[in-house]
Amino acid sequence: MEMFKNTESEVRVYSRAFPIIFNRAKNATLYAEDGTAYLDFLAGAGSLNYGHNNDHLKKALLAYIESDGVSQGLDMFTRAKYDFMESYKTVILEPRGLDYKMQFTGPTGTNCVEAAMKLARKVKGRDGIISFTNGFHGVSLGAVAATGNKHHRGGAGVPLGSVSFMPYCNYLGDEVDTIRMMDKMLSDNSSGVDLPAAVIVEAIQGEGGLNAASAQWLRDLEKLCKKHDILLIVDDIQSGNGRSGDFFSFEEAGITPDIVTVSKSLSGYGLPMALVLLKPELDVWASGEHNGTFRGNSMAFVTARTAIETYWRDDNFLKEIRAKSEILRDGLKAICDKYGSGQFKLKGRGMMRGIACQSGDIAGQISKAAFTRNLIIETAGPEDEVVKCLMPLTITEDDLKKGLKLLSESVDEVMKGQMSQAS
Ligand SMILES: *Cc1c(COP(=O)(O)O)cnc(C)c1O
Repeated sequence: MEMFKNTESEVRVYSRAFPIIFNRAKNATLYAEDGTAYLDFLAGAGSLNYGHNNDHLKKALLAYIESDGVSQGLDMFTRAKYDFMESYKTVILEPRGLDYKMQFTGPTGTNCVEAAMKLARKVKGRDGIISFTNGFHGVSLGAVAATGNKHHRGGAGVPLGSVSFMPYCNYLGDEVDTIRMMDKMLSDNSSGVDLPAAVIVEAIQGEGGLNAASAQWLRDLEKLCKKHDILLIVDDIQSGNGRSGDFFSFEEAGITPDIVTVSKSLSGYGLPMALVLLKPELDVWASGEHNGTFRGNSMAFVTARTAIETYWRDDNFLKEIRAKSEILRDGLKAICDKYGSGQFKLKGRGMMRGIACQSGDIAGQISKAAFTRNLIIETAGPEDEVVKCLMPLTITEDDLKKGLKLLSESVDEVMKGQMSQAS
């Protein structure tokens, strides 16, 4: 422990909430060095939708390594990349009527967001981007400019420009139509809002506190973008790869974004990989204009392809996700109902749900109480007030129910403390 505390930078985050050494993991369970099993409701911040060390993916990966398959291929043509592209195109894109070209970027979410924003600016010849309140798009300079969180923005050290923020769905309560407001501002020569190249949006805001946009709001946003000649970028990095209850988070709304950013659970094994999906007519890149050494992480291509082939060829997995989403929703709703309205609020959609607490302090206490019960669960939102469930989609129903029970007990413990404080 001293090694980490003295030698690793203070910038670390998750190890502060869960300060023990882990050395093994399987599906929804992380094991500490002493053998203690922890139920993982954090799942690599949404990068382990198919669980830790998924057997299907591991087998394919081991076989690839054993055969001396190309490991790092830059952006050269490799068999691993071909096979991934073929699966993604035929199993994911074509059945959904989506026609996108694929741009592989450096293997982090923030890098594909950078690429998406650069491309939109280049296509439209405008520098402005509109992002939304509580949006999170990464922490490199371009992406952090589109990120709402003050703490992350403050880390930039330079002025963040060329992004304006608009109120997300229901930001001003459900009576205010924020798309109408945007339309008015974009139509008014004197609103002070310049016509942007693109709008970037999460269909479900992950880091921003599990705000889920309504399908109607997303459809209205798409219409608004078309009307004003603005590109629509959907950031599917956290809400994609099945998390929302569909493969893409925007499917429920039936919209077709101009650009989609994908990362986190794309590789399915926690291996770094990122992808920009772009409408073919937007592909105005010159060779090497957005570059990166690690755009050919073949091991990630292999596991990404295997995940698609294993889970997305038919709708069995989708049905499984939807059934578990209901268990998750019911479990969280029971917690909310127990304490009456005002204490907790149900947030999110699909397998990306949580409960908003009265304060970040309460949410933090719940996360701590859960950890003492061997449940790993994090908080999100502007005040870290949302307890956020992001367990693997492959979690067994037993583990899901067990985790929800531990969470419920943790809430009870914290609320008991609150009540005795108040009296
Ligand atoms: C995590 C995340 C990012 C950034 O991805 P990194 O791999 O951490 O750079 C961007 N957008 C969304 C919606 C995310 O959840």
